[in-house]
Order: sequence, then structure tokens, then C-alpha cells
Amino acid sequence: MTTPPTLSPLGDGISAVTLVQHVGSDKMIVNAARVSFGGDSDAPLNGRDEKLIRYLLRHQHGSPFEHNLVTFKVVCPIFVDRQLVRHRVGVSKNEISGRYVELQERNFTPPSFRRQAPSNRQASVEDDGTLDQAAAAAVWEGAWRAAFAAYQELLALGVTREQARGVLPLSLYTESYYTFNVRSLLHFLSLRDHEGAQYETQLYARALAELAEPLFPVTFREWRALRGEAGAKP
Ligand SMILES: Cc1cc2nc3c(=O)[nH]c(=O)nc-3n(C[C@H](O)[C@H](O)[C@H](O)COP(=O)(O)OP(=O)(O)OC[C@H]3O[C@@H](n4cnc5c(N)ncnc54)[C@H](O)[C@@H]3O)c2cc1C
Repeated sequence: MTTPPTLSPLGDGISAVTLVQHVGSDKMIVNAARVSFGGDSDAPLNGRDEKLIRYLLRHQHGSPFEHNLVTFKVVCPIFVDRQLVRHRVGVSKNEISGRYVELQERNFTPPSFRRQAPSNRQASVEDDGTLDQAAAAAVWEGAWRAAFAAYQELLALGVTREQARGVLPLSLYTESYYTFNVRSLLHFLSLRDHEGAQYETQLYARALAELAEPLFPVTFREWRALRGEAGAKP
């Protein structure tokens, strides 16, 4: 059995995005569009097909992309997951339950802390050297340790898991299966692989894109070109 491709978006050895399975191809997108004219076929993808994909994306004919699915296993901090779950259409999710299992001691600690941006839209900016990184890391670590110790203490007292988990912070890792159809995946990426999104969520979005792109290479190429990404050929 081959190991499924996995990326670690936050580079800490806990964060992970794994490609679990996929359904469909660029050709499936073309066939779903061409069935309107009875023109679907088994022939390999050709230049006309590529043009059609470009046309569909440009004119937001989204439904042909919906027959194509990608399932990821996502291990991310709860604060990232709270943003992923806002994508309601064409996205399916199942998550580990803190009611049924004892939650593992898995905490995300930022490798470096950012400052609040003067403009809220941008949200955060790199530290200009004025932040006391060591002090921030110590506060974060202390808060995590105290919270996780409280969780374990409550369990030891006999408190149910579904209540004890209430003391755990947003930096706790959670894990889920997420299935996106390709339309919803591109929509997600346009919002979250974007400088306006939280930096850590951007890293997850890029990991999802990196794993999905080889499965739908023409779609991603044309989508990137439409977004005006450097290096993407129209
Ligand atoms: C940078 C950024 C900052 C954000 N900040 C906040 C925040 O401060 N607070 C907050 O609550 N959320 C925030 N969000 C979440 C945001 O409001 C969206 O919920 C999220 O991005 C999902 O986008 P969506 O609704 O387009 O996607 P989906 O939920 O997947 O919906 C896809 C599309 O379906 C259509 N659709 C879905 N539901 C409806 C509906 N009920 N009625 C009509 N059409 C519908 C829309 O066309 C929508 O674009 C933020 C998102 C981003 C990217």
C-alpha cells in the first residue's frame, strides 16, 4: 500500500493535510459541460477541452466542476478549523469527537508572533523587532500547560469528557475529513489562499491546493491564470 501524500502546513510535525481520495478529472469537467449538447466522449483531453475549461471558469459556469471531489484529512488548530467550517456549500466534514475520545496533548505554538495590523482588514503584520517574542512564547506555553493540566484534572475527578474539554484553548489540534467538490474547493481557495485570510489558514489553503492541483492540472492552471497569478499561462 502506498502512503498517501501528506503536507505539514505549519511545519511543526503535528499539522497535516493528507490527500485521502479523489473522484474525477479535467475530462470529467469537460464531459459534464458537453453533455448539454450530447458531446461527451472518452477521447483524451485536447486543446478544445482546455479552452472549454477556461470558458467555464471565466463565465462562472460552475456546475460541471461539482461532479469532481477531493477528500482531505486535515489536522489543524481549532482556530483554523473555525474558518474552514464557514465554507458551507459543497463541503462535507466529519470531525474527531471530544465527547468520545480523550483529546491528545497537541498544541500549536506559533514559531513567531505577529503584531496587530493598523488596518483591521489586514489583521496581522510581521514583527518589526519590537515584540518580545520570548515573553509571548512563555505566556502562550503557560496558558496551554495550565489549560491542559486542568482538562486532565477534571477527567481525573470523574468529570465527563464532553464537559472537561470546555477548558481547552483554540490552539488545540483537531482532525477532520473534509470533502470538497472542485467548484467549492476553488471558491474556498480564492477566499483563503488570499492575503486577507489569516496567515495560518492561508498555509492550509496552499497545502490543499498543492495536493489537488495535480489531479485537475488544466482547471488549476486556468483558474490561476484568471486570478492573474504570476507564472500561470492563460
Ligand atoms: C478574510 C475573511 C474574513 C472573514 N471574517 C469573518 C468574520 O469576521 N465573521 C464571520 O462570521 N465570518 C467571516 N468570514 C467568513 C465569510 O463571511 C464566509 O462565511 C466564508 O468565507 C465562506 O464563504 P461563502 O459563504 O462564500 O462560502 P460557502 O458557505 O461555501 O457558500 C458558497 C456560496 O454559496 C452562496 N450561499 C451560501 N449560503 C448562502 C445563503 N445562506 N444565502 C445565499 N447564498 C448563499 C453564496 O454565493 C456563497 O458565496 C470571513 C472570511 C474571510 C475569507
